[in-house]
Amino acid sequence: MTDAVLDEHDIALDQLEYLKTTGNVCADGSMTGWTWLRYHEGDWQALRFATEAVHTREYIHGEVWDRERVVDWLVDNPVTMHPQSSAYRWSPDSKTVWDYADEQDAFSDRDRCVWCGHSDRTRSLGVYETVEDGTVGLCEGCRDDWDRAGELVNGEVLE
Ligand SMILES: [Zn+2]
Repeated sequence: MTDAVLDEHDIALDQLEYLKTTGNVCADGSMTGWTWLRYHEGDWQALRFATEAVHTREYIHGEVWDRERVVDWLVDNPVTMHPQSSAYRWSPDSKTVWDYADEQDAFSDRDRCVWCGHSDRTRSLGVYETVEDGTVGLCEGCRDDWDRAGELVNGEVLE
């Protein structure tokens, strides 16, 4: 019997299996933007903090990936495994990246404020016409900030 020679794909499959079967583990990696990944209630959840100007730096993009995308990401990425309970964006912090994602309902289909990311579960949202970003949903607090900054066409709620 010869020793099996593992390639990147084999290693990625091992990592995937580890993530899938080990509770409270997640991975992060910085390829194509810093991303955290976990297996949660049957879904591969990937999150990253926004880099686009239309969002705050706290806004979380949440995506559900299929298995193939997870494998590709693990092949391409040097990843670090963490307990989910200490997956901090910056350390120290009082909440993990997963807590922030839950707070914003980042993996739900809810409407979310385009600026701060909070959803209509916790904020009252309205749709506004903006000078540079078309029509966007904003919560009341963010609406006031955008209005003061001159980013709203007339500040009237459309929906
Ligand atoms: Zn907001």
